[in-house]
Amino acid sequence: MSEPSIFTRILNGDIPGEILLDTGRVFAIRDINPQAPLHALVVPKTEDYRDVTELAQGDPGLLAEMVAAAKQLAAEHANGEYRLIFNNGASAAQSVFHVHAHVLADIEENKLVG
Ligand code: 5GP
Repeated sequence: MSEPSIFTRILNGDIPGEILLDTGRVFAIRDINPQAPLHALVVPKTEDYRDVTELAQGDPGLLAEMVAAAKQLAAEHANGEYRLIFNNGASAAQSVFHVHAHVLADIEENKLVG
């Protein structure tokens, strides 16, 4: 069995991290290297999916729960508006292969990458 992802280790309390939300099947943490005043990562608790393509095919309802969690974070920590980013593959800047959505809000400058 492979090692738990960095996100699972934060969820389990094995390494420090700020958990912002836990909806049952989905949780959110604050990104350690924020690119906006609100920069959270929404993560399904299951590690069954490496990226959003696999997730959309395997469990679209869980993807919808991630989007709802993003909206909730933006409502609680910003004005309700948000940017959602999924990196898919190493050459698209994905570094953690446990699917996650970047939720950014209160964006000061409109550029697509940090
Ligand atoms: P990716 O590049 O895979 O789309 O996003 C991974 C994100 O995880 C990066 O934005 C990175 O800053 C964040 N990250 C990596 N390690 C940690 C950590 O130990 N704690 C937290 N809170 N975020 C992390």
